[in-house]
Amino acid sequence: DKYFFASYVKGDDVSQHRQLSIINRLPKALALGELYMVYQPKLTLSDGRCVQVEALMRWEHHQLGVLSPAEFIPLVECAGMIKVVSQWALDQVISQQAKWKQSGLHLQVAVNLSTQDLISGTLCDDIQAKLHRHKVDASALSIEITESTLMDDMETAVQTIKRLKQVGVDVAIDDFGTGHSSLAYLKNFPVDEVKIDKAFIDDLLVDSRALHIMKCSIELAKGLAFKVTVEGVETEEIYLALTNMGVDKIQGDLFAKPMSAKELEESWGLLQQS
Ligand code: C2E
Ligand code: CA
Ligand code: CA
Ligand code: CA
Repeated sequence: DKYFFASYVKGDDVSQHRQLSIINRLPKALALGELYMVYQPKLTLSDGRCVQVEALMRWEHHQLGVLSPAEFIPLVECAGMIKVVSQWALDQVISQQAKWKQSGLHLQVAVNLSTQDLISGTLCDDIQAKLHRHKVDASALSIEITESTLMDDMETAVQTIKRLKQVGVDVAIDDFGTGHSSLAYLKNFPVDEVKIDKAFIDDLLVDSRALHIMKCSIELAKGLAFKVTVEGVETEEIYLALTNMGVDKIQGDLFAKPMSAKELEESWGLLQQS
């Protein structure tokens, strides 16, 4: 895989060197605890209560500092190493939930997985084993899959989503509207939720077409019985524009930034108030 990856790295020498420093470090980083999860609340639009958190990965690289998953996840996927990372993330989240459960905090957590995980064939069994081991209920888990890659092996993806649903795990389509999938295809995915991509949010107030796309996307998603989450809400203006559009959940720095498990526990009381 390493050799395969070396032929994939792009860009100038500096950027190639950086990509290799990231990938070559991965096994050690996992072993030494350089990776960790942060949690960002999702709130109901109607009463502002935190109903779920999304787990987001961070990597404090020994030389490069804190890396964004937007940089390292695509590299890890290309290097064929996403499965280990996803399994690690699921372990982190589910064992954290077991701790929260003991202190009376029952919280659904959404985990970002790659389409490669979804079509691997063992995902559902792996998840069930982890939930069982930590005595965490399947309903406490939700999976977010990015729309753009879902069509690569649609049949397998649909089968896995169906199995996850049977087990009791929720599934959401992430970055809704950015992929090349048409809604005609999306109706085949028995998911619970779609998350509308931030790209549409940012133009909402300045571009009437973005507003129109947004309204239509929400209407279509609702028509297919999907719950709608809008993420990346940064300003009061955008938040106000979103009310009365049929949005179910909102997420963004305006309400709460991604935080450590400890910070989440500390602000939990506040997040429960409407
Ligand atoms: P995503 O799943 O679409 O996650 C939303 C991203 O938007 C997160 O970036 C989040 O921190 C950021 N965000 C949330 N609210 C705001 C806001 O108000 N303003 C702005 N500007 N940004 C906001 P992050 O954490 O850097 O993650 C980037 C992407 O990396 C994620 O996009 C997801 O696709 C991927 N990712 C993150 N964690 C994992 C993971 O554990 N596994 C996998 N496979 N992918 C992950
Ligand atoms: Ca996500
Ligand atoms: Ca997203
Ligand atoms: Ca994304």
